[in-house]
Amino acid sequence: MKRIFTTLCAILMFSACSPKAEGEVSRSDFVLGTVCSIRLIDGGSNNTLQAIFSRLSQIEERMSANRDDTQIAAINQSAGKEAVKVTEDTLGVIQKSIAYARLTGGVFDPSVGPLVKLWNIGTDYAKVPSNKEIKEKIALIDYNDIELDEAKKTVFLRKPGMSLDLGAIAKGYAADEVTKILASHRVKAAVVDLGGNVMVYGQKKDGSPWRVGVQDPVSDRGEYLGLVSGKAMTVVTSGIYERFFIENNVRYHHILDPKTGFPSDTGLVSVTIIAASSIDADALSTSIFSLGLKKGLELLKKFPEIRAVFIDEKKNVYLSPGTESIFTLTNTNYRLVELDF
Ligand code: ADP
Ligand code: MG
Repeated sequence: MKRIFTTLCAILMFSACSPKAEGEVSRSDFVLGTVCSIRLIDGGSNNTLQAIFSRLSQIEERMSANRDDTQIAAINQSAGKEAVKVTEDTLGVIQKSIAYARLTGGVFDPSVGPLVKLWNIGTDYAKVPSNKEIKEKIALIDYNDIELDEAKKTVFLRKPGMSLDLGAIAKGYAADEVTKILASHRVKAAVVDLGGNVMVYGQKKDGSPWRVGVQDPVSDRGEYLGLVSGKAMTVVTSGIYERFFIENNVRYHHILDPKTGFPSDTGLVSVTIIAASSIDADALSTSIFSLGLKKGLELLKKFPEIRAVFIDEKKNVYLSPGTESIFTLTNTNYRLVELDF
C-alpha cells in the first residue's frame, strides 16, 4: 500500500510539472502490479485510453507470475512435465529475456521465479530465507533449461519446480505496446508511466524538449535527483527503493543474484536507462543494476545508442558516455563523479 501511495505521489508530482492543458485526457489504474498512468497531451481520446488499458490488462493476464491463471502460471505449473502453448507476445518476451540472460551470463535470468517466491519481497510475507532453502531454489535457476519451440510456440521448463518470472522486463514490453496504440490512434504527444517506467512519446506542441525526473533512490516521497531532457524516449530505473523490506536493520531489495540467492550487492542503489525501446531499457536496468558499475558499463558498449545514470551508496552519480548532454543533476546531496576507467 505504501508503495502504491508513493507511486501515486510521484505521478501527482509529475503531473504538477506541466498543468493539464485543454483537450488533454489522462487515466491512472492499478495494472501489471503497479499504478499505470497515461496522459494524452496532444491527440487521442478516451477510446485511446480504453484501448491502452485493455492491452495492459491483457499483458498482465498473459504474463504475470503472481496470478494462477496466466500463460506464465501454466508454464510454471507444467515444469518438468510438458510444454505449454503460448501467444506470440509471451513467446517474444521470453525470447528477449533469454537473450539478456545470455548477455549477462545469467546475472539476469527469467527463471529466477523460485527465488522471487521464496523471498516474497513486496508482499507482507517477506522474510530472510534459510541457507538450505536458498540452496534448493538456486539449483533450479538456469535459463538454459527453458526450452522454446518457435514453430509450435511452446515453452517447456525442463526441471520440476522451475518457474519463470518476467517482472524485470514485462513493463518495458508493455510500454512499447502502448506506443503502438498511440501511433495507430494518431496521438502526437503523450506521457506513459507504468509504475515509474516512463515513456515520453512524440513531440510537444510548443516543440520544447521532454523532461523526465530521475527518482531519488533514498527518498520515499517520489522526489527527483535529476532530470533527463530530450526527444521521445523511455526512462527506466531499477533500484533498491522499488520493493524491499528491512530485517535486523538490514535492507533487502527485490533484484536477486541467482548465484548467491541474495539481493544483488554491487554498491549501486539505482540504475536509470535512457533508450528508444522500453523492453531493452527495462531488461538493461535490471541487468546493469545487478552487474554493477564496471561490468554494466562494459555491457553498455554493445548498445551505443543507450544512455545510463548510475547512483551508488555514497551518493555518487556516474554517467555513461554521451549522457552528460541530456542529464542535469538537481539535488545537491549528490555529486557527479567522472569515470576513471
Ligand atoms: P521494477 O519492476 O520493480 O521496476 P525491475 O525491472 O528491476 O524493477 O525488476 C525487478 C523484478 O525482476 C523483481 O521483482 C523480480 O520479479 C524480477 N527479478 C529479480 N531478480 C531478477 C534477476 N536476477 N533476473 C531477472 N529478473 C529478476
Ligand atoms: Mg527491469
